Parts: sequence; structure tokens; C-alpha cells
Amino acid sequence: MTEETTPVFDIEIQAPDISPYKQGNTGVDYISTFDSGVDGPHVMISAVVHGNELCGAIAVDHLFKQNVRPLKGKLTLAFMNIAAFESFNPNDPTKSRFVDEDFNRVWTAETLDGPRDSVELRRARAVRPIVEQVDYLFDIHSMLTSKDPLMMAGPLSKGRDYARKIALPKYVISDAGHNNGTRMRDYGDFINPESSKNALLIECGTHWEKSAADLAIKSVYQLLGEFGMISDDFASRFGPTAADKEEQVFVEVSGPYTVQTDDFKYVVPYFGMEVVEKAGTVYGHDGETPVATPYDNCVMVMPSFDIKKGQSSVRYGRIVT
Ligand SMILES: [Zn+2]
Repeated sequence: MTEETTPVFDIEIQAPDISPYKQGNTGVDYISTFDSGVDGPHVMISAVVHGNELCGAIAVDHLFKQNVRPLKGKLTLAFMNIAAFESFNPNDPTKSRFVDEDFNRVWTAETLDGPRDSVELRRARAVRPIVEQVDYLFDIHSMLTSKDPLMMAGPLSKGRDYARKIALPKYVISDAGHNNGTRMRDYGDFINPESSKNALLIECGTHWEKSAADLAIKSVYQLLGEFGMISDDFASRFGPTAADKEEQVFVEVSGPYTVQTDDFKYVVPYFGMEVVEKAGTVYGHDGETPVATPYDNCVMVMPSFDIKKGQSSVRYGRIVT
């Protein structure tokens, strides 16, 4: 068995000062809603669901600094896991993903209404009434080791349609999330096929790379341009160019591999979107048990490092047309 390589992190971007946005105007700290007074969708752009994913904070800060206001509908700009974000330390950047638990695994009514308490649950309960008003959620993330940016469109065709509207990045992933909890993008009506409410989660690339911040900024202007909520001038100044928009590739995730021990190791390092040609290729060991790809041409989606029992190591995907 080969030991996996421990990644080395270059911190190319800085956490913006978001303290000016604490007060907001919604009664919930760090959430502001701008109402155009004209009919249109309610779009929420959310950042720092994971405290160490700085690109979303940079994009939302950019919208605030440019004084972007919707021409129609409502625009909500939200910083989510503030406690984790405030603990960000460039010398130990992986530590501030969350404080007590993953904010992006608590999004069911059962958990939110339940008796448990944590820093993340308190914040999720505070922001929940606003999330429930939103028609289109755009939730900005980045990844530890996966290099190619991904749009996480959820399992429904409406999510893929929304991803087509945004037109970048290249890879669009259809998946049902994780076995250890529900993401905000899969909460309530976002995951109801009968509802027109819709959600996307964009993974802008590797945490702390400038390219992740650049994509986060381009994607929010693209989003607001597509909904007719900003002027063409804003969209063309800060949105993607034609060269940024590659033909989209849709990958359907059949499921994650959920790790059974605290000792999962890859045979070789994976950085995401590799296609493993043959079914039965052993790519890792879970304790002593070899773990193999389930089918031919298996796409390795979002491989994680340092995985504990019960977490997903990698999601298996098929390219669909
Ligand atoms: Zn994240």
C-alpha cells in the first residue's frame, strides 16, 4: 500500500473584512436583502457555509463593494458560518471548516427542529427563515484537493437546468449529497420536484487559490446577469468571457463510498474527475479491506483526504449526455 501524499497549501487569497456587513437589514447578522420593488425572483448568494472557503466571501464582498442592487426581484447576500470563518488562520487553514459540526449536513426539518445544539445548528436555525423565502440559492464553496471546479446540481433535472443557465464551470455533478447529513442546497423545496425553487452549490476549485476567487466572482455576475437582475455593464465587466465557458460535461453520481474505518488510504492520489477505465480497479484500502471502482469508466468525484469512519471518501460518477 502506498501512503497518500499530504497536500501542501499555498494561500494565495486573503479573507476579506466582512465586519461592515454584520448589521445587515434582515434582523439576522451578516445577511442583507435588497428588494428592487419590481417583480422577480428572490436570489440568495451564500458564502462561508464552510469557514475556510474564502472565495465565496471574496465574491460577496465584491458585490457589496460594487454596490450591486437588483433591477428586479430580491437579492440576499449572506455569510453563513461566521464563527468558523472568524477562526480562519492562514497558518492552519484546514482547521476552520466548522466549529462543532459541518453546517452543510444539518439541513432537514428533523435536525433543525430537533433537540441537539451546536454552534452550527444555532446559526442554521437563525438563517433558516430567510433560506425558506429564497427562490434560487447559489451557494459558493471550494475544495481541499480537487482541482477542477464543479457545479453541484443535486439529483433533479431542475438543478441541471439551473446549472445550464450559469454555463460554467465545465463539470456539472448530479448527486444526492452525503450519507452523514443534508446540505443546504438539498433543503426543503430545493429538492422537491414539484416546486420551482432551485439551488446550486458551486465548488470553485481548490481553497485559497486565486483562480477559485476569480471563478466565484465571475459566477455571481453571470448568475445575476442571467436573471436580468444587473445591468449589462456589470455583467460584462465582471462576468465570464466566452473563453471562460467551456462546453459543460454532466456527471451523474451513483453514490459515495462511505468509509468504514478511521484508516482509509488511497493507492495513488486522486485530485478529482479522473476516469478509471476498468470496474474492479482497487483505488484504496479501508483498514485492511481493498476498495474498488464499481463500474467501467468510473469518474472519481471530489476525493477527500483524511477521512474518518462514516464520511465519504469519493463519489462514483458516470458521464451522461
Ligand atoms: Zn464547502
